[in-house]
Amino acid sequence: MPDVLIMDTCDCLIVGGGPAGSSCARALLRAGLDVLVLDKAVFPRDKICAGWITPAVVDELELDLADYRSRRTLQPITAFRTGLIGGAPVSTQFDRPVSYGIRRCEFDQYLLERSGARTRLGEPLKDLRRDQDEWIVNDGIRTRLVIGAGGHFCPVARLMSEESDNRNEGVVLAQEIEFEMTSAEISTCRVEPAVPELYFCDDLLGYAWCFRKGNFLNIGLGREGETRLSAHVAAFCEWLQKEGRIPVGTLSRFHGHAYRLYRGRPRRPTSDGVLLIGDSAGLAYPQSGEGIRPAIESGLMAARVIVDAAGDYRRTVLANLDRRMAGRFGKLETRPSRKSLIPAAWRQAVARRLLATRWFTRHVLIKRWFLHAHQAALAPISREFAMTATT
Ligand SMILES: Cc1cc2nc3c(=O)[nH]c(=O)nc-3n(C[C@H](O)[C@H](O)[C@H](O)COP(=O)(O)OP(=O)(O)OC[C@H]3O[C@@H](n4cnc5c(N)ncnc54)[C@H](O)[C@@H]3O)c2cc1C
Repeated sequence: MPDVLIMDTCDCLIVGGGPAGSSCARALLRAGLDVLVLDKAVFPRDKICAGWITPAVVDELELDLADYRSRRTLQPITAFRTGLIGGAPVSTQFDRPVSYGIRRCEFDQYLLERSGARTRLGEPLKDLRRDQDEWIVNDGIRTRLVIGAGGHFCPVARLMSEESDNRNEGVVLAQEIEFEMTSAEISTCRVEPAVPELYFCDDLLGYAWCFRKGNFLNIGLGREGETRLSAHVAAFCEWLQKEGRIPVGTLSRFHGHAYRLYRGRPRRPTSDGVLLIGDSAGLAYPQSGEGIRPAIESGLMAARVIVDAAGDYRRTVLANLDRRMAGRFGKLETRPSRKSLIPAAWRQAVARRLLATRWFTRHVLIKRWFLHAHQAALAPISREFAMTATT
């Protein structure tokens, strides 16, 4: 008997089961589409991330916090300690939780399972080719629509890179460690669970954090276009230990990753039969690097565009996502960003002074840049995507 290649088929293949992929999958399933999520990792998997989510994420995902925290880490955040590395910190208190800390290994698995999508985990995207108006994926999956949600190094985005803007401008390189402290380490850790600490580099080209989620400690530092990242991380940890904020001698296993800031010049998110969402489109907020919320929002916006396209997946139709993203995250720019007329040293001197003031720290740094509180959440999935009879 000759070998017969059995093809899996789906309405839509999502490459990557992180927050972008799982939220898009959940919305599409509610609208009645057959969705398959392909991920190279087997879940639960780790993702290098501080694991800070803002209230908009909770609302958009309709997270039942009591249910979530019953078996997972959920750390309410009610205050911040901010400043320059090596400087005097400013404390900012709130009278209720203004954000939450999660562990990505738990959060991403929870969202992917809850999405209800079919999954093929532990299977990387190796091959993607066009067959008339369909895609053949890994020689085993046939679909008319592929969504690239594979994060910063998404293979679908790489495939589209000839047409997209793939410059390195706005790419942040970061290193991070997350570990569960022993009881001896907990007794010498002065970082409080509800109070993340954010410290900016002296040249303001990046910032570091030290964030305790229950007994888990997450420490990291990210800088735009940095080549000497390890040296910055080592100096930051040395300072934290000298200040007595973290236990001495436990920090050996830092891991690196990258993400692209949205400065109005992201990777172009659409082509014939393809969409990019989340980090694969380069959507992290420029001031804070928060990427989970834009990942989810782009996933929901992509789902809306797909449902409205009603099976017409030509680029001209899918380009509605470009317009939606520009409306939500900022105008798309095609020209290189203009240089500021004010010298960098002056801007940095002013910014350093502002970081030392309570008003600026509370209202601009925390509320506007880090909590992104000025922008209302998108409508949650259950309101935006009515359950169809076929699901
Ligand atoms: C150090 C650091 C700290 C951060 N801290 C925060 C924070 O506190 N809060 C916040 O909001 N954002 C933070 N971010 C950004 C945030 O992590 C990302 O923006 C977010 O994870 C993007 O979600 P995503 O679903 O687009 O991609 P991801 O979460 O990266 O998911 C991509 C998925 O695609 C899969 N994949 C990759 N390649 C393939 C392939 N070839 N085939 C199949 N599957 C593939 C991966 O296994 C993964 O599961 C941080 C980023 C870094 C680097």
